[in-house]
Amino acid sequence: NSGTLSGLSNSENAVPADAKNLRVKLVLLGDSGVGKSCIVLRFVRGQFDATSKVTVGASFLSQTIALQDSTTVKFEIWDTAGQERYSALAPLYYRGAGVAVIVYDITSPESFKKAQYWVKELQKHGSPDIVMALVGNKADLHEKREVPTEDGMELAEKNGMFFIETSAKTADNINQLFEEIGKRLPRPAPSS
Ligand code: GDP
Repeated sequence: NSGTLSGLSNSENAVPADAKNLRVKLVLLGDSGVGKSCIVLRFVRGQFDATSKVTVGASFLSQTIALQDSTTVKFEIWDTAGQERYSALAPLYYRGAGVAVIVYDITSPESFKKAQYWVKELQKHGSPDIVMALVGNKADLHEKREVPTEDGMELAEKNGMFFIETSAKTADNINQLFEEIGKRLPRPAPSS
């Protein structure tokens, strides 16, 4: 799975192209199966594929959004395929990331535990000004919910993270997730 790691040396820190056009590397972290690939595909392509295990790509997908203040944000979204098996290499993966999205599955307490692990990991090794979001995915499966919304909120609040529950299946809160991240990105000082 070396394709996942290709191009890592080219990663740059959240480099603002200019004050109105931001560009940022975004990494997704979380247990396998929580829906990371589906979230990305829903956001970038507007699709949900329940039948096949989708792989986002060898390096990254990018998607640009416009915010209300007419800023645009280009997200460079890095694939996580197999990253769970390379935990020693994880710091390499999120080096230079301006945004880390930690995903768990609301029907899986184990995945919530893993999310807590990633929070600590990023606090140790991530860049100090990284924007962190906590995402409880598969919110459409409310009958199978095992992680209360409050638990996600509490974890996020304690760690200064943005929190949202999403469904890649129904598209609920997917665009909102990226918009809220965009709003929280540090803005470059205006040049005079
Ligand atoms: P990843 O390993 O974290 O990238 O997870 P995937 O994106 O491959 O998704 C794992 C499984 O969860 C797939 O079978 C998806 O169809 C399913 N899935 C992903 N997101 C959702 C969601 O929001 N709701 C439901 N019901 N299933 C989802």
